[in-house]
Amino acid sequence: MKKVRLAISSIQSDSIVDGEGIRSVIWFQGCDHRCKFCQNPETWDFKGGEEVSIDDVKKQIKELEYQDGVTFSGGDPMYQIEAFIELAKYVHECNMNVWVYTGFTYEQLIKLSEKDSKYLDALKEIDVMVDGPFINDLKSFDVKFRGSSNQRIIDVPRSLEKNKIILVEKYI
Ligand code: SF4
Repeated sequence: MKKVRLAISSIQSDSIVDGEGIRSVIWFQGCDHRCKFCQNPETWDFKGGEEVSIDDVKKQIKELEYQDGVTFSGGDPMYQIEAFIELAKYVHECNMNVWVYTGFTYEQLIKLSEKDSKYLDALKEIDVMVDGPFINDLKSFDVKFRGSSNQRIIDVPRSLEKNKIILVEKYI
């Protein structure tokens, strides 16, 4: 079986700003969206970060205590989609939920999934997605869990089921 490569920037626990509840955040390395005034430009370089084994990250996920879920951020986890799928599945096996921050829009990911089923596999492992690039002109402190008002907090299972974007109601 092909060994899936994973490069991360860091893993952090007990965050209350990267999604609902108390969460651990896995910061993936690598992002090509290059949003102006991105807060994490050190995560852009696809050759940077730390190469880690998926099994080691799973071990860390298993040992988490008092966390409601795991947030995948970056960088952009969608650029390491195979590693993301494997880890997100594992998070669900550990009875925690999955939030994802991605610079792609939901529509772009659906389009990509028409050509490559891995994107659909990834979408199926996401409970909540904060989508789209950070746009400095739309920067807002009034929008919870987001940097700019173009970004949406999407209920992914319901959106897939209804074949249209359904936002998480309490964050609209
Ligand atoms: S998608 Fe996120 S990590 Fe990537 S450039 Fe935009 S704000 Fe930065």
